[in-house]
Amino acid sequence: MIYIGNHVSISKGYEAMGLMEEKLGGTTFAFFTRNPRGGKSTAVDTEDVKKLQKFLEEKKFGPLVAHAPYTMNLCSAKEDVREFGLQMLKEDLEKMELLPGQFFNFHPGSHLKQGYEAGRDMIVDALNQVLYPEMTTTVLLETMAGKGSEVGRNFTELKGIMDGVTCKEKLGVCLDTCHVWEAGYDIVTSLDKVLEEFDRIIGIDRLKALHLNDSKNPMGAAKDRHEKLGLGCIGKEALMRVVQHPMLQGRPFILETPNDDAGYKDEIAMVKQWMKKEE
Ligand code: FE
Ligand code: FE
Ligand code: ZN
Repeated sequence: MIYIGNHVSISKGYEAMGLMEEKLGGTTFAFFTRNPRGGKSTAVDTEDVKKLQKFLEEKKFGPLVAHAPYTMNLCSAKEDVREFGLQMLKEDLEKMELLPGQFFNFHPGSHLKQGYEAGRDMIVDALNQVLYPEMTTTVLLETMAGKGSEVGRNFTELKGIMDGVTCKEKLGVCLDTCHVWEAGYDIVTSLDKVLEEFDRIIGIDRLKALHLNDSKNPMGAAKDRHEKLGLGCIGKEALMRVVQHPMLQGRPFILETPNDDAGYKDEIAMVKQWMKKEE
C-alpha cells in the first residue's frame, strides 16, 4: 500500500487542507509552508493545526510532504540569497514542529557557476545549522531534473550532501518520477535497476516520499516539465509499476501534475485502482 495525494492550498488553513484532500479521495497531501515564490511567513493558528493532526490520525492519513518555496536557494552565489534561504528554512522547520512527524521537502539548489562541490558544501553547511536530534520532522532532498546548474541531478550528488550532514537520521530523499526520468534514469524499461542503484548509493530506507508525475519530455531532457499521468513520455504502464513496486510501499506519493481539482480526483482514483491490482 502507498499513500496518494496532491498539493493543496494552505490559504484556508490547516484543517481545511485535510478536508479538501479527503474530498479528492487522497490519503496524504503536500502544501507550501509559505508562498512558493518566496514571501513572508504568516503566523500559525495552533488550534487549527491541532484539528488537522486529529483529522490525520482519525482518517489514517500517511505522512504529509510539505514543500519549501522555490526561491529558496541554499547554494546561491549571492550571500543575501543564501541567507534568506537559510532564514526561510529555519522558520519553516520551526513551523513544521507544530505538526509533528511530517516530511519537509526542498530543492537542494542551483550552484550557478560555482560548480557542484561548492554548491554541495553550502547546502551541507545550511543543513548542519538547522537539523537537530530532537526534531520530529524529516527533511527531504528532492531528486532534480538537472535543469541549468541544479544540484541533485543524480543519486551520487544527493549522497554527497547526505555524507556531509551530521544529523543524518533527520535527512532523506523525495524521488520525483518526472525529474529522475528527465535526469536520464530509465524508469520505463529499467525501474528495478534504477531502484537498485538508489539502494546501492543512498539506501532505499532513505527514500521517504515520491512525487508522482509524468513528463512532457524524453528521458534525459533535463527540462523539468510535468505532465498528467499517462499522457507523457513515461506513460501509464511505467507509472503503474512505480506505484506497485515492492521497494516503494508504505510511502506518500504526491501528484504534481498540471490538473485542477477534478483532474486530481480522477488521478487519485486511477492510482488507487493500480494499488488494488498490486494486492
Ligand atoms: Fe519540487
Ligand atoms: Fe517534484
Ligand atoms: Zn518538477
